[in-house]
Amino acid sequence: MRCEWKKPVTMQTVRHSEHTLKTALISKNPALVSQYEKLDAGEKRLMDEAFRPDSNLFGPITLHSQSDWITSHPEAPQDFAEFFNDPYRKTPSPQKHSIYIQCIGSLGNTGSISEEYVKWFKGYCEAFFYGLTVKLLEPVPVSATRCSFRINDNTQNLQIHARQILKFLKKKKPEHAFCVVGIITIDLYPRDSRNFVSGQASLTDGVRIFSFARYGSDFYISHYEDKLKKLQKKSSRDYSVFDNYYVPEVTSVLLLQSCKTLTLEIGHIFGLQHCPWLACLMQGSNHLEEADQRPLDLCPICLCKL
Ligand SMILES: [Zn+2]
Ligand SMILES: [Zn+2]
Repeated sequence: MRCEWKKPVTMQTVRHSEHTLKTALISKNPALVSQYEKLDAGEKRLMDEAFRPDSNLFGPITLHSQSDWITSHPEAPQDFAEFFNDPYRKTPSPQKHSIYIQCIGSLGNTGSISEEYVKWFKGYCEAFFYGLTVKLLEPVPVSATRCSFRINDNTQNLQIHARQILKFLKKKKPEHAFCVVGIITIDLYPRDSRNFVSGQASLTDGVRIFSFARYGSDFYISHYEDKLKKLQKKSSRDYSVFDNYYVPEVTSVLLLQSCKTLTLEIGHIFGLQHCPWLACLMQGSNHLEEADQRPLDLCPICLCKL
């Protein structure tokens, strides 16, 4: 990958040459080139914007700090040809064409806020993955998962074992599901030795869980001393500690952030890797500020993978 760094006044950008972007999009494989040529004029015009240097629609990735994902997690770039030839990627079929959303625990301070929030997710996903059906599985309380949980030493907040939730989602996966995406507002941990994880997936099983706990502005300052003292005295299988536990306030910002995360995570289930090409929803992010800078939509190189 040829990558040229330009430094405007304060920020750096990752700008690829026209040739690099064109090859990433169309490839040099004659079969894929002829497939590209068969797109209708409107689709092709949009796709060509990927490599037009004066494009108003798509631009280079802007770096905001050295802790940004692209500088701290060097990854092999996935172009269209590589995606197309990946034997393990999952594609919806007429038999498996539904995305299921499973809510675990409360998403809002009241049942009606939770319901409204999930309906927005459903509508957003249906528009984003146009042509697929999006269905809601009956929401379940945390206790239904029978997963282990703990108190995080750093934040003093409750956390649930993410890998065990994946097993739960696999059991719940309907026959005709393309994937099941679990949503939770309790913080997650992948194993005892790790501090936390924002999400976890089993791509072979087509299941993914992610948590919006850390999207709440008060996550790091919340105190649950009484509840947590109660937990220490009780068994870690007593799920009553989750009753009326912290949920981030549902705001338009939280909704925007969570819709982006939801569509990015489902993109990973399709086999899309993080995007190093252009400003794109599929850019990796190390922190919330970086995630907020990502656009809502896919660049043409990622879009053509769907
Ligand atoms: Zn990711
Ligand atoms: Zn992209």
